[in-house]
Amino acid sequence: MNKPVVAIVGRPNVGKSTLFNRLIGSKKAIVDSTPGVTRDKNYAEASWQGIEFKLIDTGGIGYPIQGKLLTLIKNQVESAISEADLILFLCDGREGLTWQDTDVGLLLLKTQKNTLLVINKIDNVFKEEALADFYRLGLGDPIPISASHGKNIDTLLDKVITHILPYQVEEEQILPISVAIVGKPNVGKSSILNAILGQERVIVDEFPGTTRDAIDTLFKKGKSQFLFIDTAGIRKKSKVNKALEYYSVVQAIKSIKRAEVVLLIIDAIEGVSAQDKKIALHMEEAGSAGIIVVNKWDLVKDKNRTTLEEYKKYIQKKIPYKKYLPAIFTSAITKQGIGKLLRLIEQVHQEHKKWVSTSTLNNIINLAYSKRKPPTIKGKSLKIYYSTQVKTSPPSFLLFVNDTGLISTSYKKYLQNQIRKELNLKATPIQIKIKKR
Ligand code: GDP
Ligand code: GDP
Repeated sequence: MNKPVVAIVGRPNVGKSTLFNRLIGSKKAIVDSTPGVTRDKNYAEASWQGIEFKLIDTGGIGYPIQGKLLTLIKNQVESAISEADLILFLCDGREGLTWQDTDVGLLLLKTQKNTLLVINKIDNVFKEEALADFYRLGLGDPIPISASHGKNIDTLLDKVITHILPYQVEEEQILPISVAIVGKPNVGKSSILNAILGQERVIVDEFPGTTRDAIDTLFKKGKSQFLFIDTAGIRKKSKVNKALEYYSVVQAIKSIKRAEVVLLIIDAIEGVSAQDKKIALHMEEAGSAGIIVVNKWDLVKDKNRTTLEEYKKYIQKKIPYKKYLPAIFTSAITKQGIGKLLRLIEQVHQEHKKWVSTSTLNNIINLAYSKRKPPTIKGKSLKIYYSTQVKTSPPSFLLFVNDTGLISTSYKKYLQNQIRKELNLKATPIQIKIKKR
């Protein structure tokens, strides 16, 4: 079962951590009466009436530096929204409705996320007038509680349960990683596939692929599953030799479109060809993660410790726009590197699916910006207000700036490289989109 996720959001000092601790039943989160004690996001398991859920305290991301507070709370709320099935929007009943509450409330209204409006610090006599203001938020009936006194918590939990029940779903089925094996004729594509499939203790299924004539091969090893795309195209050799080179590029383009991870096979002796460069360009455009497989490594004579590094440098020089791609050295004959290749495919796939929180991303961008300021263009300089990840596979980021004309290609590249470095992304393309705010 996948547990539903409940997030507590609200401006600092309304009692988020106190409520978090109350709901999980043990003092795990740090509570501090000074507004703005910086804490990491806190996760814990909680349950009520046998229904289990995950609780997030988005706690101390906000701290009240005048003017900055708003963006910080927004970041916090947005990050919670991306994760949560239900949001507990916590306000302080003693202080009443503040402009910051109204702002967060608007954000929540816009996203139409399941929200419960919870008014904290209603410790003693139930005061109707303390709640009246909060109806203005348009987020339904305010639920009065006292987190520190444990008042009305049962009612709140009952409501939480009814809202999260639909989000209790069966464990997500593990989908196989789709892998394309591409490269020129005779580099060893089918030999590598056979070397992989020929391993012990594996299950191999062949079934029709999504396109006509395509045969995909499903390969399971332990918990891992790989779907090798269009294996018929790899195994079946065209009889017309002249058309072969051209055919292999067409085939590669088709397979790349369907794959999450692309293995670009290169013949160690022949080196990087013009065709390989073409295929690498298509990989970049398709946004697929990739691995350069230097095959027939057994044929390379007089190898020493520097041979590998030199070969990597040679590839980077030949395919400069794919500098980040990992290279692996294999032999389909001796099986050298085949096990490592499978592990690398899984690693690379993880990178491709990478999701980073808004706050982490903004920290990376802010640090990059302060390390190297963008060049001024016509006396004006670029300001980056805020950034957020908009999609995965490949990871794509949206940056809100003062003027889209002020970002140079090289500065964009620089930011891309900084993200790559900080998140340790070695094999996946990274996309950056710029928007004026
Ligand atoms: P957060 O910044 O939103 O996580 O707030 P905390 O949980 O750190 O609480 C801020 C302050 O409010 C602390 O001094 C708490 O003891 C206090 N507090 C929390 N819940 C209640 C409550 O129900 N009643 C009262 N009177 N104080 C509370
Ligand atoms: P494909 O056209 O890319 O599928 O290439 P094949 O798998 O048919 O291989 C072409 C030729 O290279 C065959 O004669 C293979 O035996 C040979 N070959 C493939 N991989 C290796 C390798 O790692 N080392 C050596 N020495 N020969 C290989």
